[in-house]
Amino acid sequence: MAQIIDGKLISKQIKDELKGKVESLKSEGKEVCLAVIQVGCDPASTVYVGNKKKACEYIGIKSIAYELPEETTEEELLGIISKLNNDDNVHGILVQLPVPKHINEEHIINAISPAKDVDGFHPASVGALSIGKKGFVSCTPAGIIQLLKRSGIEIEGKDCVVIGRSNIVGKPMAMLLLRENGTVTVCHSKTKNLKEVCKRADILVVAIGKPKMIDASYVKEGATVIDVGIHRNENGKLCGDVDYDAVEPVAGAITPVPGGVGPMTIAMLMNNCVEAVL
Ligand code: NDP
Repeated sequence: MAQIIDGKLISKQIKDELKGKVESLKSEGKEVCLAVIQVGCDPASTVYVGNKKKACEYIGIKSIAYELPEETTEEELLGIISKLNNDDNVHGILVQLPVPKHINEEHIINAISPAKDVDGFHPASVGALSIGKKGFVSCTPAGIIQLLKRSGIEIEGKDCVVIGRSNIVGKPMAMLLLRENGTVTVCHSKTKNLKEVCKRADILVVAIGKPKMIDASYVKEGATVIDVGIHRNENGKLCGDVDYDAVEPVAGAITPVPGGVGPMTIAMLMNNCVEAVL
């Protein structure tokens, strides 16, 4: 039977540790503050923003919400970001993505000061990660490293296979596993013999965005399987990119969906906000 990697529990531990840090910063007169900007009212974004606000409240981080109308122009949004960049009382700036189509997402990401880029999406943050310098790291892959470490799963020297090469998950995941001395292979939609490559993995990270695509035939006996995917089926039930019921008997350790990677993303966002002050 596989070890179930409990993201709910581990994210709670991280949030409780951060609570302590935030309190001691407060006693030094420093109040951690995150600005969260949402443009338009995409329902999924509203849920994500709400969860971020709740996590801030739990930890004691001040959150300032900007709920901007759909017709907000790129210039207006850039103006707000510039103001927040120059506000010493604001430590982190987060623009909930996606932004409406008339706003260029790249311009927005590039406008956030790297010192306040708690999502870790700015090219300077991404560059720092790839050359091993200090900088904010994208929250989902940073959370996966915490899941592995806090579950006692060693990365050094292990064959790590990442399926997916997106800028927010796959690529930073590969860089982080490399930083932890894993031997890393990155797969994508053009990869040949995907099954054979995956079957070599001691640690398999799946971030493809295809419900239950990875079954037991992709997994080596005893491998650690990390499922990043989130999908909701027609009955409203959540599932991942991994066929959990098929893979769990083969895996050595596995993350469930929900309750695996998902809760870690917000915990690491909170961690980045605190890091922004330290
Ligand atoms: P993207 O769609 O940006 O990237 C998907 C990647 O998977 C691409 O690199 C693509 O390859 C690759 N891919 C697609 N089909 C295949 C295939 N058949 N074989 C091999 N590779 C394939 O997705 P994201 O990285 O943004 O997200 C991945 C999943 O993780 C989604 O389900 C998303 O909802 C979830 N997610 C969950 C988060 C969490 O907090 N738990 C946070 C972020 C995402 P190519 O580059 O060649 O197109």
